[in-house]
Amino acid sequence: MKPTPKTSWNPERLDVRAFAQAGADLHADDPLTRFERLVAEAHAEDGQPALGSVTWQARGEMRAGASGGAPAVWLHLQADASIPLTCQRCLGPVDTPLKVDRWFRFVNDEATAAAEDDDCEEDLLALEPRPRLHDVLEDELLMELPLVPLHDTCPVPVVMQASDPMVGLEDKEPQRKNPFAELAKLKK
Ligand SMILES: [Zn+2]
Repeated sequence: MKPTPKTSWNPERLDVRAFAQAGADLHADDPLTRFERLVAEAHAEDGQPALGSVTWQARGEMRAGASGGAPAVWLHLQADASIPLTCQRCLGPVDTPLKVDRWFRFVNDEATAAAEDDDCEEDLLALEPRPRLHDVLEDELLMELPLVPLHDTCPVPVVMQASDPMVGLEDKEPQRKNPFAELAKLKK
């Protein structure tokens, strides 16, 4: 007997076992601003265009367990996003595509996941407490961030020269007294 089709799944507290048993899927297009830890990595600048969105989908599947064991709960997660990072050469924004395509096997709880993790190649997650899909997605997206974001070709030539606004600033600054010299005077 097939389980009753469910029309609404709660991605904030997903019953992954029921989701997999139903062979269900979920997909959405969420604003990047919903992923706070990811937004913290974004290039910040006044007048910066609004951040884009994260297109994602999740699909559940039951698979035969290893060596005739109980069927296992699997979840396939895919996501596509683009985030402006700070180019480490010119310090300007560089749009960086992020792509996630991953399968997870779910086990009963976190203790089981930790115990089995060393013995298998796949990624393990716990059924309980029920996962928040956005957190799992965000963890994966964060792992896709490049260590050193760079433009293929920077839009502006990066040459430190006299026209650099920082050069020559010290000449215009009023002479500051050496605070230690002042202190030495007071001690006398
Ligand atoms: Zn650059």
